[in-house]
Amino acid sequence: SVETQAQLIDKAEAQQMYKPRTKFSHKGTYGHALMIAGSYGKMGAAILSCKGALSAGAGLVTAYTTQQGVPILQSSLPEVMVMVDDFMGNVLEEIEFDLKPTVIGIGPGIGTSQKTQNALGEFLEDNEVPLVLDADALNILSKNKQFLDYLPKYSVLTPHPKELERLIGAWEDDFDKLKKAEAFSKKYTCVLVLKDAHTITVFDGKYYVNNTGNPGLATGGSGDVLTGIITGLIAQNYDPLTAAIFGVYLHGKAADIAINHTAYEGLTASMITEFLGQAYLDLF
Ligand code: AMP
Ligand code: MG
Repeated sequence: SVETQAQLIDKAEAQQMYKPRTKFSHKGTYGHALMIAGSYGKMGAAILSCKGALSAGAGLVTAYTTQQGVPILQSSLPEVMVMVDDFMGNVLEEIEFDLKPTVIGIGPGIGTSQKTQNALGEFLEDNEVPLVLDADALNILSKNKQFLDYLPKYSVLTPHPKELERLIGAWEDDFDKLKKAEAFSKKYTCVLVLKDAHTITVFDGKYYVNNTGNPGLATGGSGDVLTGIITGLIAQNYDPLTAAIFGVYLHGKAADIAINHTAYEGLTASMITEFLGQAYLDLF
């Protein structure tokens, strides 16, 4: 039954998942997150996802985006390296010969132009680096279902309800939704994060129900931050399922802490990244 398949994730579980840092470590220990994100008019999505990865603790973060994003990213996020392409023709060469990322987050603000759809298909066909897919990457997968067969095992997909519907089709009720999500996650051996007021992460016939977060998160960019957080956790060697569950927990906890300082209405996506360190502190 749904009850026996479901596990509530609260602070005790989050404490179990947390991996403390060791003294003799360096940025290489904490991995290199590559964020493929942003496009003209949506460069904020790249900024927010990169900020999410940084504040989750990734050792290095590189943004892969369109040309006009360079000055924007370089001036707003000095911690982040930037690679460009128009869009995203040679990303594979760079990844293989130069970058060697630990994990790739892909999708926030990339758009769904035919060129980007083709490029994503070519990229997925050859890529073996662990992936977190969100937003327009999911919309492109929905339009090109054959791309799903290229996903590396244990990819993390983070759809909001509309993106989920495009991916798995409409559902009749919550039970039907979970069953459809479970079947999808089994078929592609992927971690499916069903974002909602109570986000449920689905993997291997189990449902992990999050209990952090609040309506302040209903604001543009909050999902982009979550993509970055999960990507940043995988960079630090959290396995993809743990990264998804723990990332969702920390994202919601940061928003809950932010609400001590502002109203739901005042919460912005950037604030989630600013309070993420306090969400970690709350584990102790
Ligand atoms: P997106 O729609 O991609 O920007 O993602 C929105 C993020 O905010 C997801 O992580 C949702 O789970 C979260 N979120 C949206 N609305 C609420 C809400 N009312 N309560 C808690 N979390 C929410
Ligand atoms: Mg989103």
